[in-house]
Amino acid sequence: MDMPTNQNDAFADSIKSKLPGVQTSIFAVMSALALENNALNLAQGFPNFDCSDKLKLLVSQYMNMGLNQYAPMPGVPLLRQRIAEKIRRCYHTIVGPEVEITITTGATQGIFAAVSAFVSPGDEVIIFEPAYDCYAPSIVLNGGIPKPITLHPPGFEMDWDLLKKTISPKTRLLIINNPHNPCGKVMSASDMLQLQEILMGTKIILLSDEVYEHLVFDNAQHQSVLLYPDLYNRSIITFSFGKTFHNTGWKIGYCVAPKNLSAEIRKAHQFIVFSVNTPIQHALAEYLKDPKVYQGLGNFYEFKRNTLLNHMENSGFRPLPCGGSYFQLFDYSAFSNENDLAFARRLVEEAGVATIPVSAFCTDEYPHQLIRICFAKNDETLQQGANQLKQWAYSM
Ligand code: PMP
Ligand code: GLN
Repeated sequence: MDMPTNQNDAFADSIKSKLPGVQTSIFAVMSALALENNALNLAQGFPNFDCSDKLKLLVSQYMNMGLNQYAPMPGVPLLRQRIAEKIRRCYHTIVGPEVEITITTGATQGIFAAVSAFVSPGDEVIIFEPAYDCYAPSIVLNGGIPKPITLHPPGFEMDWDLLKKTISPKTRLLIINNPHNPCGKVMSASDMLQLQEILMGTKIILLSDEVYEHLVFDNAQHQSVLLYPDLYNRSIITFSFGKTFHNTGWKIGYCVAPKNLSAEIRKAHQFIVFSVNTPIQHALAEYLKDPKVYQGLGNFYEFKRNTLLNHMENSGFRPLPCGGSYFQLFDYSAFSNENDLAFARRLVEEAGVATIPVSAFCTDEYPHQLIRICFAKNDETLQQGANQLKQWAYSM
């Protein structure tokens, strides 16, 4: 073993990573590769079209009015009231804006605050993998132990029997994501009722990540936990305005939870960020007055999913069912046996298209050959991406 030669080396050696297995996020890696190779970025989940001019104008108006100091810790009251109205309209559920809604710096921070509030060292947290990349690190940073349950293509059905077997006396939290990133799966009413029954009588808290609540296709209804009062009683639900209003860079969202759970989340929230961007909160409160600003979103993205699928027809990339979110999975096994990371890297270089390898959402090996494409892009980009992939496929 090399011995430290001076004090700096001794200090460097004493730094012990709390996340030793974690590397730079796959979204940052693939976006950088896209830039480097001058490739189309269909990897990271963000729209390549702008958010509403009205909303941008409202933000600047509130800034110019001088609303530039700290907002109240749980969020601007009018915004919380408007969110409660939206929840009543969408899910026929009454939640108290004062005590059940907390504005967060994107859903990511809501998730981190929720996990920090409830997970103690040694607690087990069940997640369904592929899983959005922030869940496991948030659990580990709080001393918890992620317990993944693997979902398999093509349907990524929830294995409720396996869930029952995975629950132990140490299970503190269960995280679901509906609609699901990256699988595009939406949960059914029957899924929700089974989940409700499994959790009944346990002390398990449910964290339901519903950032794609409006991106549900083919006439299906989003099965929010807010529709199931017995489930909601033990739940925290996270949302993101970035997904709903095409401004992922604004990093603003909210979490909804019954009063007793919200009180604990706020204890963590106030020491993570304290409060969230003031003028944007005022602007969103005004913008949300009109329900039309979110009502057409399912159709808007369903059209984009169909556009991508049409352009990808006869490409050799096999699409999997996608009922929601803005992600479409493709099976590439017709072209290669190589692992998905190697394949995605090759696609950037050879086809000029960046995608996300699905194994990046798993802690262990994922035995499927799948890449994820984000279809939150204008039609021209979708067509160009599909053409480049087809050209590459035909040259194989
Ligand atoms: N959950 C899921 C499933 C996501 O896809 C994302 C990111 N887009 C987030 C949470 C984080 O949302 P935000 O950007 O609002 O932090
Ligand atoms: N949620 C986005 C995705 O799944 C990325 C967010 C991020 O870059 N951290 O692609």
